[in-house]
Amino acid sequence: MIKPILIHPDPRLKKLCAPVDDVSDELRALSQDMLATMYDAPGIGLAAPQIGVLERLIVMDCVKEGDPEPTIMFNPEVLAASDDTNVYEEGCLSIPEQFAEVTRPASVRVGWLDENGNPQEKDFDGLWATCVQHEIDHLNGKLFIDYLGPMKRQMMTRKSQKMKRERTRG
Ligand SMILES: [Zn+2]
Repeated sequence: MIKPILIHPDPRLKKLCAPVDDVSDELRALSQDMLATMYDAPGIGLAAPQIGVLERLIVMDCVKEGDPEPTIMFNPEVLAASDDTNVYEEGCLSIPEQFAEVTRPASVRVGWLDENGNPQEKDFDGLWATCVQHEIDHLNGKLFIDYLGPMKRQMMTRKSQKMKRERTRG
């Protein structure tokens, strides 16, 4: 089932999300809804708070061509980050049609629980590294525009607010 995506500014996008104690059937179903919502948007990542669920769950698929790699992470955590950095032009499904360059560690080691509740650990680089850091930020109430200067952040927030009003009206 495709869920409506919250648009910034929304207080739910600024909250610290709670850890998942138990990967329940309900949360597993929710993760499938999140993947469907992400592919439909279309996007390469989605965090639970973006659909108003304040729990530590993200989904991703950064494959642009070839077989999809739907990835579901409960309680994802950056365990180690490289000193070398990468700059990507980032966007966000909660800040539609706006993009800005963000500098982040080029590679990260991430630990998480998979959809069966089993612990996993993996190194990510390239677009996957940027995406997983962007999605984990959502679980801590942080948006990619928080890395920008105040002027740019305010400008993008105003545009997003306008778009949100238009969508509500439409
Ligand atoms: Zn985002």
